[in-house]
Amino acid sequence: MPFFIEYISLYLITRYFDFPFKDPLPQKYIIFMMILNSFLTFLGIITFTRIYTRQMEIKFRALHNQADYDQLTGLGNRYYMHAVLNEEEKVCTRHPNLYFSLAMIDIDHFKEINDTYGHDNGDVILKRIATILTRYSSDNLFICRWGGEEFLLMANHNIAYEEFLSYLDAIRIDVSEHKFLLKNTMVQCTVSLGAAIFKPNMNVRTVLKQADNNLYVAKEQGRNQLIK
Ligand code: GH3
Ligand code: MG
Ligand code: MG
Repeated sequence: MPFFIEYISLYLITRYFDFPFKDPLPQKYIIFMMILNSFLTFLGIITFTRIYTRQMEIKFRALHNQADYDQLTGLGNRYYMHAVLNEEEKVCTRHPNLYFSLAMIDIDHFKEINDTYGHDNGDVILKRIATILTRYSSDNLFICRWGGEEFLLMANHNIAYEEFLSYLDAIRIDVSEHKFLLKNTMVQCTVSLGAAIFKPNMNVRTVLKQADNNLYVAKEQGRNQLIK
């Protein structure tokens, strides 16, 4: 790099100035070369730093995306959803007249689907269900892959619980009516849903527990249903 800068300054001097090849070099040329050298070095450092910072930003953003998003479905993951939930919890705790709602969604008999059609086909179904769910996502309704074959939906304080429940039922019907076209065969599957509402004196952990309990009841009562 310094060699390159020296080279450019020498080139500029010999190219654009009437350069006297005398020994010793007159003082003014030495000073001029020093100034030019410093300037070019400064410019080089600035440019290099900017390029390096930009590359670091791109890498950081890619890592950040990897940390927050599920590789298979492209949905946000549990970490992403925790950040969303904590923000919403703050809003609803500050304004006790506001609440948010959430729902845990679990694919029914998914182990059987994997065992029958293979893990790869299981992945296809997971991706398709994620696509169905994405149709319902909005600025007020957040969706994530909670883990395995479970998804979590959160409706913020702008969506009333009854409205949220109507979306959940629509999701349940959408999935149950969907024909998942695998390599050689058509498969249908269902989901069970447990919904819960954030009430005063609750926190993210307790509302998640409530949704999970309701999901358990949905499974116990025969699956393909929504318990609120
Ligand atoms: P239930 O109706 O009670 O929920 O039964 P289930 O079979 O869906 O539940 P279980 O917990 O017994 O099995 C979940 C299965 O989900 C087992 C696991 O191998 C599968 N699974 C979890 N993550 C993935 C994944 O990323 N891809 C695939 N293909 N399968 C997965
Ligand atoms: Mg499960
Ligand atoms: Mg399941």
